[in-house]
Amino acid sequence: MAGDGNGRRILVLPGDHIGPEIMAEAEKVLAAVDRRFELGLTLEHALIGGAAYDACGDPLPAETLARAREADAILLGAVGGPEWDGVDRALRPEKGLLRIRAELELFGNLRPAILYPQLAEASSLKAEVVAGLDLLIVRELTGGIYFGEPRGIRTLESGEREGFNTYVYRESEIERIARLAFRLAAQRGGRLCSVDKANVLEATVLWREVVERVGREFPDVTLSHLYVDNAAMQLVMAPKQFDVMVTGNLFGDILSDAAAMLTGSIGMLPSASLDAAGRGLYEPCHGSAPDISGKGVANPLATILSVAMMLRYSLSEPEAAQAIEDAVSRVLDQGLRTADIYSEGCKKVSTAEMGDAVLAALG
Ligand code: NAD
Repeated sequence: MAGDGNGRRILVLPGDHIGPEIMAEAEKVLAAVDRRFELGLTLEHALIGGAAYDACGDPLPAETLARAREADAILLGAVGGPEWDGVDRALRPEKGLLRIRAELELFGNLRPAILYPQLAEASSLKAEVVAGLDLLIVRELTGGIYFGEPRGIRTLESGEREGFNTYVYRESEIERIARLAFRLAAQRGGRLCSVDKANVLEATVLWREVVERVGREFPDVTLSHLYVDNAAMQLVMAPKQFDVMVTGNLFGDILSDAAAMLTGSIGMLPSASLDAAGRGLYEPCHGSAPDISGKGVANPLATILSVAMMLRYSLSEPEAAQAIEDAVSRVLDQGLRTADIYSEGCKKVSTAEMGDAVLAALG
């Protein structure tokens, strides 16, 4: 079980294209903190995505899923690529990822948007608006309109077609995501902003009511509410006002991508998807980048920072997590940059050189 000392098992799923390249660097870093902090981790590897489809005709083989269920945490690279475009939709690499999230009931998606001051120029917003940004978006991942029934496209009596979906949340679903978000806010800056559309959608009237009810269990966290349209505006106007934001699947999908872009580089952003027991799947926000795979230029920092999230949220090893985050910051201070975050005056490094630099900075 997560957090019970030695003998913890990590399942590593490198995936496709740059997945194995960035994962190799993340594993170097994980091995180093394992030794230094005596974490007693055991790493196992399995196939997912296109690599799994090629090997056994299934993007999520039964063996991978069985091992995932037994692991204390899962570390994933990225899946997908154009060579699987012709594959039956149900067997595409991305389906492997959607299925593992659903099978393991990973309902809580954590998407930090952190802008290291050293990279402030990479954002499309003014540096002073975003420098030092440290925001966490908690998105409900397994409910809401993406899963609600009924859904479909039907033909009306008039002959006109209509598309329809159902925005639905049960109290228990809202409660568990709210509780997770409050817990995280309590560990961070103590401020939680819940995002809804309670002026129009009844489902989110209930959302607001339940979030407020759960909030009474967390008197040390200050709760606020925003309608999603205003939240989007505030996010690009003054993003540093936020500590933790919690929202449903649909709004979270959109807001977390907008927040990611505030930071300017997708190669820097980790993510986590957690279940009710705090076990989780950790992965970079970006995809498998087939356009740059095999060239040794991919940025491994999002995956390395995903390792830090895993140590913090599933393995209760905050010191080891902090050591990795500090090492990444030191490497940026040294002016080392992969091509995606390169700016003049810095030193351009390869994927492996960046991994080695983080290792060296760990000391
Ligand atoms: P992508 O995130 O793979 O790439 C978008 C752009 O960002 C590309 O120009 C790429 O070179 C660049 N990029 C991404 N990661 C980078 C990194 N670490 N370092 C430097 N540059 C990086 O998105 P896409 O091109 O839309 O999708 C490519 C494949 O990945 C598709 O098959 C897609 O379905 C899949 N995908 C997988 C995941 C996942 O595994 N979680 C997420 C998104 C997309």
